[in-house]
Amino acid sequence: MAPDSPTPPPVSLAHGREVVAIPGPSIIPERVLEAMQRPMVDIYAGAVVDAVHESWALLPGLAGTSGRVFVAISNGHGAWEMALGNTLCRGDRVLVLECGRFAAIWGEMAEFNGLRVEVIEAEPRRAIDPAVVEQRLRDDPSHEIKAVLTVHTDTASSARNDIAAIRRAIDAAGHPALLMVDCIASLSCEEYSMDDWGVDVTVAASQKGLMTPPGLGFVWAGPKALAANATADMRTRYFDWGYRAEDGPIYLRFCGTPPVSHVFALREALAMIDEEGLDNRWRRHQVHADAVRAAVEAWSTPGGIELHVIDAASRSNAVTTIRTGSVDPTALAQRCLDGAGLTLGLGVGAFAGETFRIGHMGHLNPPTVLGVVGTVEAALTSMGVQLAASGVAAAAAVIARAW
Ligand SMILES: *Cc1c(COP(=O)(O)O)cnc(C)c1O
Repeated sequence: MAPDSPTPPPVSLAHGREVVAIPGPSIIPERVLEAMQRPMVDIYAGAVVDAVHESWALLPGLAGTSGRVFVAISNGHGAWEMALGNTLCRGDRVLVLECGRFAAIWGEMAEFNGLRVEVIEAEPRRAIDPAVVEQRLRDDPSHEIKAVLTVHTDTASSARNDIAAIRRAIDAAGHPALLMVDCIASLSCEEYSMDDWGVDVTVAASQKGLMTPPGLGFVWAGPKALAANATADMRTRYFDWGYRAEDGPIYLRFCGTPPVSHVFALREALAMIDEEGLDNRWRRHQVHADAVRAAVEAWSTPGGIELHVIDAASRSNAVTTIRTGSVDPTALAQRCLDGAGLTLGLGVGAFAGETFRIGHMGHLNPPTVLGVVGTVEAALTSMGVQLAASGVAAAAAVIARAW
């Protein structure tokens, strides 16, 4: 360096493996990527048929149910539509429990498709209060409300609803409404037990905790939901449960040609989940989420950076939404991307411009989580943001305790 140039030129650091830390699509394991990389096969016999049978053997356990599972070639929106269309009738009233953004979008779909929608909103930055649900259902003695729609984890706010408590609220009101739960962000990341918790319909998609590319929508249906299917008048042929027979060629389960590459990917991802075990998986997500939250709390200054969800018991283990105070989250995300090859999730809905999100779902270990936290810390420091303490040290301490 010449003696007359005091400042060295900036060094570009973003030349390793990029990390996408948005809350879905999430990191796809190499095993899953490799499982997809194969030529097309016969769809009536052999490997893909085996993969479907092996997947169907594992899918009910994933949601904690002995009910049936239906798989659409779709994203989560398709699974939402499958759930509504197979169980309800045009003009039915549904109660949407909203604590961020996603239950409301499901409700908008319900309205568009011909249902009458009523929304209960959680207090800002909190999960749904089951007592409010109980009261509303008590005020519906003629049982006009046919279904309660909610999310387990809301991916915009990162609030997690207490689904078992919502079921108890419905039961305490003596109300027969179906309980339908969107677990798109949370399935396999958060403890979930469809049958034990009395959930009638569970909805998920392939690209978040399930480590599979976007393109598969899942709906699990318990006995009450399957019975409702007999009279539901919003069914369409592609999504219709009745048409998706499990005996006969696998062609029928998909209402057409199976998505061969996705089937191989899904089977591999389910095998990985099975090898890990759901208990370990839930605890691993808890540790990684705790590490991220500890980092944010260490950084936190009043009115500055802080966790969006106020009540610790309502914070999701799949995604964390972080308020940024006076820091522009878009500038922060850009710094992480340009400077480090790290993609953060930006705020959505009402939280756009004031939050960013770190997804910590699926195929994740301490190097990834600590790398994300450390990179955010470095980016904030380089932007001149005053942090109360090191988030990296706090996150590492959480990991150390878990060992
Ligand atoms: C991602 C997500 C959705 C939307 O899923 P798509 O696959 O984009 O249709 C719905 N609900 C929740 C909770 C989500 O996280």
